[in-house]
Amino acid sequence: MDYILIENLILFANHGVLPEENRLGQKFVLSGRLYMDLSEAGETDDINKTVNYAELCAMITDYTKAHTCRLIESAVSQIADEILISYPLIKKAELTLRKPWAPIGLPIDCAGVSVTRERHTAYVALGSNMGDRKAYLDEAVEKLDSDKKNRVVRVSDYIETDPYGGVEQDKFLNGAIELETLYSPIQLLKRLNEIEAQAHRERKIHWGPRTLDLDIILYDDVVMQTERLTIPHIDMCSRDFVLRPMAQIAPYKRHPVNGKTMMELVELMES
Ligand code: ATP
Ligand code: MG
Ligand code: MG
Repeated sequence: MDYILIENLILFANHGVLPEENRLGQKFVLSGRLYMDLSEAGETDDINKTVNYAELCAMITDYTKAHTCRLIESAVSQIADEILISYPLIKKAELTLRKPWAPIGLPIDCAGVSVTRERHTAYVALGSNMGDRKAYLDEAVEKLDSDKKNRVVRVSDYIETDPYGGVEQDKFLNGAIELETLYSPIQLLKRLNEIEAQAHRERKIHWGPRTLDLDIILYDDVVMQTERLTIPHIDMCSRDFVLRPMAQIAPYKRHPVNGKTMMELVELMES
């Protein structure tokens, strides 16, 4: 993919673990590649079809002055996120932040940290069967969209469904959304759990009544299984209340393990 190159932008900032570093400040050097499609800019010679690198460097300089971190790991991650938040044309940022005067008491040219941050596509299933169910789902969508690191791209219709898993309880309202996100899978799960907690979600009975349930169904084509998180959602293929909304907003999206589209998975359930 095309990219804009930034090499050795000198920044003066107060990042560091030592109090003197926070007080006195020091030199940092930023380099990186900002990936985007530059074909239209190349064809039209129009600066509006690209990212103005003078503006970009000024933004990075201002941001760095205004935000002090202990670790350059945090500093460079925050700069990468801020670039992706500020410039929708940029798809991926690869950045290296060097610290030439790192006070380590040994001869060294510099220490540095590199990160890669990019936009991801996640699908999240929404469910509620207590209180004002529609309001709980709407509020979750609104909270996710107003988070700077997310953008809600599509929202399915909400459908009323029978409870799943054998617990006697009220009917559910279910839906699904497509999310563009800068969060990693585990960061996204934490964010979803916070929103559930704000809706006073309680976990008393497994698969029992809930004000709000937010589950990650798919995240790019990631396949992962840890104690806290399984992606794709482990039971998605046997749940019509997940598959029907998914087939509405992403009919041709394929399950990364069995290769079937959401539409095919719904048809399989119905057959
Ligand atoms: P189910 O996951 O079968 O729909 P549930 O949504 O009612 O059940 P929760 O109480 O919301 O279950 O979550 C239980 C745990 O599931 C969470 O603490 C979380 O760590 C874990 N989990 C694993 N994979 C996922 C995922 N893809 N999305 C959300 N939570 C997940
Ligand atoms: Mg669930
Ligand atoms: Mg859940």
